Amino acid sequence: MTQIQRARDGEITPAMERVAEREERDPEFVREQVAGGQAVIPNNHAHDSLDPMIIGREFSTKVNANIGNSETTSDLDAELRKLHAAVHYGADTVMDLSTGERLDETRAANVAYSPVPVGTVPIYEAVKRADDPADITHELLLDVIEKQAEQGVDYMTIHAGVLMEHLPLTDGRKTGIVSRGGSILAQWIEENGMQNPLYAEFEEICEIFAEHDVTVSLGDGLRPGCLADASDEAQFAELETLGELTRVAWDHGVQVMVEGPGHVPMDEIGDNVDRQQAVCDGAPFYVLGPLVTDVAPGYDHITSAIGATEAARAGAAMLCYVTPKEHLGLPNAEDVRDGLAAYRIAAHAADVANGLPGARDWDDALSEARYEFDWERQFDLALDPERARAYHDQTLPGDNYKEARFCSMCGAEFCSMRIDQDARDADGEMASIDGDTDLDASDAAAVNLPPVGTHDASGVPDEIEIGGVTFTPETPHADD
Ligand code: SF4
Repeated sequence: MTQIQRARDGEITPAMERVAEREERDPEFVREQVAGGQAVIPNNHAHDSLDPMIIGREFSTKVNANIGNSETTSDLDAELRKLHAAVHYGADTVMDLSTGERLDETRAANVAYSPVPVGTVPIYEAVKRADDPADITHELLLDVIEKQAEQGVDYMTIHAGVLMEHLPLTDGRKTGIVSRGGSILAQWIEENGMQNPLYAEFEEICEIFAEHDVTVSLGDGLRPGCLADASDEAQFAELETLGELTRVAWDHGVQVMVEGPGHVPMDEIGDNVDRQQAVCDGAPFYVLGPLVTDVAPGYDHITSAIGATEAARAGAAMLCYVTPKEHLGLPNAEDVRDGLAAYRIAAHAADVANGLPGARDWDDALSEARYEFDWERQFDLALDPERARAYHDQTLPGDNYKEARFCSMCGAEFCSMRIDQDARDADGEMASIDGDTDLDASDAAAVNLPPVGTHDASGVPDEIEIGGVTFTPETPHADD
């Protein structure tokens, strides 16, 4: 049975217990959220190394990192390093979007080595296996989906909402259909003159998902690819279909989340979230950015993190990160790091603003360390401790500067916090700064414990054999 089926039966599963522990929430509250479809616990029965986590608007905002190879870059070692970087820098889930060679091996390695849920987009493999995308058959799609479910994939993006009747609505857009899955399915529909096979076979797909407890992530194949196309008729027509499919999946006992745009002007993001929540009966919203401006290629981790913050503030449950390479090239491990940092900032900023239990305590503890010139603690508490330490040490590397009451930004004479401290010391009445936030006692301890989350990687094997080759890559543990 799936987590939602067991939740509806009133059972608090071990996964719900673990999630409650990580989120500092009541297990019964977790069960209610899963039973009602407002939260999902992606947790394929065959994913042995997984540490269960939850995605829902009532819980801490999660971040997904896309990894995977492409036609031009296919290297299994490099893929495992990317997985490691993603988990190390705080990804709550990863999506293997490989479109290059050795798809099965790459997916198997990622599932075996990942303590976080692994998502995929099965249409990519179907395209690779067919001679021509137009030749993809219903049987091939179901075969790919079933095989990936058996491999242990925790959630799959299914672009079942791209309907034949929606396609004319994209005429006149500035950037057409920008979702890879959406564009492939549109081409298939046009060339075959038939309805989207993922829509036609959706109930069959749900039966496979229910058997393995794969969460369906209803893809937004008609999402806008630029500000000019945001919130248009095509996008919202597809959303209505995703609402319909949400209820079909729930009827089959399948956990559901719904994907969202893309590129959206800042002032439209809140309405987009409200609309999805209304149309999809509160199913978790998983947004891709959105980018709030189109003019900054090379910096789209920033343009999109701004939109992601706004979306999470409005109720989005998971943010799909964007790296600086977006629109430009395949990200490497350093890009993964930069993208994740941007998105963990977005997620945390929204959690603070939304009053998630204990979220602010992390900020307060770091601020106190900063004011007390406790440099080591400030580095340890930083979202990216390695970078904070490296930047400080670029100009003041000596150990003596770890106790200095200044850094190189203002210098000793003009350090405002030093001046403020001295003034307070001189006047006892001002010495009332509270510097005792105890993070271990905070509700945040298990959620946002610095530096990067609390994935338990003890289920990850020391080595795996893929295609006759033994791999012993670094264990992707958040604390290493
Ligand atoms: S020198 Fe400036 S930036 Fe550095 S610790 Fe003091 S106030 Fe902060």
